[in-house]
Amino acid sequence: MQTSAKTSRQLQNLHIHFDEIDLHAVTRAFNSTSFSGRSPIIADYEAVISAYFGSPHALACSNGTVAIELALRSLELKPGAAVAVPPTAPVMTILPVISLGLRPVFYDVRPDSFAPDLDDLRSLSAEGIAALITVPMWGYPWDMEAVAGFCSSNGIALIEDCAHAFGTEMNGRKFGTFGDIATFSTHERKLVSTGEGGFCITPHAHLHERMRTWQHHGALFDASGAYRVGERIGSNSKLAPLCAALGISQFARLDIKIASRRAVVARLREALKPCKTLVEFNRYPGSEINGYAMVFWFEGEDRGRSQLLAASGIQSDTVRYNYKPLYHAPAFARYARPCPNAEKLIGSIITLPCHEGLSENDICEIAAVVEDIYGRDYRRSVAS
Ligand SMILES: *Cc1c(COP(=O)(O)O)cnc(C)c1O
Repeated sequence: MQTSAKTSRQLQNLHIHFDEIDLHAVTRAFNSTSFSGRSPIIADYEAVISAYFGSPHALACSNGTVAIELALRSLELKPGAAVAVPPTAPVMTILPVISLGLRPVFYDVRPDSFAPDLDDLRSLSAEGIAALITVPMWGYPWDMEAVAGFCSSNGIALIEDCAHAFGTEMNGRKFGTFGDIATFSTHERKLVSTGEGGFCITPHAHLHERMRTWQHHGALFDASGAYRVGERIGSNSKLAPLCAALGISQFARLDIKIASRRAVVARLREALKPCKTLVEFNRYPGSEINGYAMVFWFEGEDRGRSQLLAASGIQSDTVRYNYKPLYHAPAFARYARPCPNAEKLIGSIITLPCHEGLSENDICEIAAVVEDIYGRDYRRSVAS
């Protein structure tokens, strides 16, 4: 990671918060009867996940990319079946589609959110879209009911890639509970962190069963938990129980973490009010973000400002990701399809950190640096 003299690690958007409770949870896990992916700790973790989302079935797995792969496999789509993905997603969303021999079809997002543009989806009807993946970037909520309604009335399976959207809600209902399957990542940057890890939730018992079979070497389970292998194909993508133990203690703190981040969000919003050239990104009316990061629209072209911001110690995720429409990356260019809203959106936003590790001083410093680069500097460069 590039740093400059001004960089304080605090201002970066990576904030890993492990404490004594996490440490004890992992230490206690050494007393478990098993260290493998069949440890009872895994079932405990899955019960915690189910309870948090109010979702009947949860499956822990080794990472969030594999979670998407398991979700797609469970749908048992025909080879080459069309799976709709947004160009605003990171590579992790599209890679499993391609590696499973399915065909990614890019859909445009709405001009004012990361939600699928339903008119654009309607225009894709000749493609025979079998499944659609939504990706609420940086945890900003949109009208998910409309998207779920569209999918169910058109016979399209809905997968929510909620890696950024722990605790994101619309009308009091959590993102991850609208689709047929939702996938999450617990990579170190995510709101629940186990280093590496992921999980799927689903209301459908048969999809859960298929995912579990695939990730357990093709095992078929009976009601007692006994299993037999050799009748189905599968692989191994089980989560290690030490990570699951960490996941349990992280989930216990998730709501507090989100509340702390929301307090920082409120402060940063306030501190950035004088900067009229930045406007916060749209979220579903009446809903609050989960504090994964804050997203802002800036006026005009970037003109190197996001790089300047990074050089001042505040790295926007758009810089870290080298954020561009997925189909501009060489590996996905053959699937390119113009998505003008997505292109415009990607070129008009930055993200700012709002994690619970930021002090009042940090917040003031972020606001001052941002005002310097996106306020006065911008006006000066426009005037010249
Ligand atoms: C982090 C992330 C994933 C999964 O990443 P892993 O590193 O494989 O856990 C998937 N989708 C999105 C949008 C992500 O941010």
